[in-house]
Amino acid sequence: MSQDQVDYESLKSGGFMRQRQHNQFAFRLRIVGGYVEADQLRALAKAAEEFGDGHIHLTTRQGIEIPFIHLDDVESVREDMAEAGLRKGTCGPRIRGIIACQGNTVCPRGLVNPQDLARKIDEKYFAAGVPHKFKISIAGCSASCAKPQENDFGIMGGVEPKWLKEECTGCGLCQEICRMDAIIVEDGVVTFDREKCDLCGDCISSCPTDAWVINKTGYTLLIGGKVGRFPQLAVKFVELVDESQLFEILDKTIQFFKENATKSERIGDTVNRIGLETFRKAVL
Ligand code: SF4
Ligand code: SF4
Ligand code: SF4
Repeated sequence: MSQDQVDYESLKSGGFMRQRQHNQFAFRLRIVGGYVEADQLRALAKAAEEFGDGHIHLTTRQGIEIPFIHLDDVESVREDMAEAGLRKGTCGPRIRGIIACQGNTVCPRGLVNPQDLARKIDEKYFAAGVPHKFKISIAGCSASCAKPQENDFGIMGGVEPKWLKEECTGCGLCQEICRMDAIIVEDGVVTFDREKCDLCGDCISSCPTDAWVINKTGYTLLIGGKVGRFPQLAVKFVELVDESQLFEILDKTIQFFKENATKSERIGDTVNRIGLETFRKAVL
């Protein structure tokens, strides 16, 4: 096939990204929350050795790419990856691969299961067309290891604590533990400032007498984060929604983006231009 006949657009939509080297492509995979089975890793390694130059690239968003695949080997790679249960990734103005930490499946601080949520969001929205790239990240708690603040739509697990006076000995430990200065213990009485609390749950896991308990578990949602040439952090716009509310809000957010974005505008720019309150009213 001559270079003139190469359909780069259809290769790109099939996950094969054009490299600067003639007729060489990097195959981008659809990885959800950084989860890959050991057998799949073996298949990836085999494909990289057989069709690439023997290395794999781990992207900044938990993605995997096999570079240096020759045009003639595209079909073979596609078939081998499909056999290993690995699907093609995406790029361009679409909902991108979902990133997520391991949350309560592994991490002692995890308050929710970001891996499970990432799979559900991926199944529903992956590669859906939107005005500009749209990135989603899920962190299992407010420690934010998955950097939801750097994504167009950030999700953080959270718990609202509740103090049980009758269980409290007034030891003061929770005041020391709370990094948000949301707890004051004076003369054996605890004062809780809900406005300052970031729903991390540390008081609940640390109290020696279980005087802090979970009042509610849910997700905090953030909008408008991005990096690149004009970076900005996402801002929190709602707290402690449940899973079905989250999906409803995400649907409405995507709709808002489609209806309001101008050309080449990330949703953070759209919200900056139109106003956070207008966005909130549209999606909540
Ligand atoms: S964000 Fe929280 S749950 Fe996720 S890895 Fe970090 S500390 Fe653990
Ligand atoms: S750590 Fe527990 S027992 Fe100690 S002051 Fe706080 S709520 Fe009371
Ligand atoms: S949940 Fe975290 S931020 Fe909120 S009061 Fe407890 S320790 Fe402080």
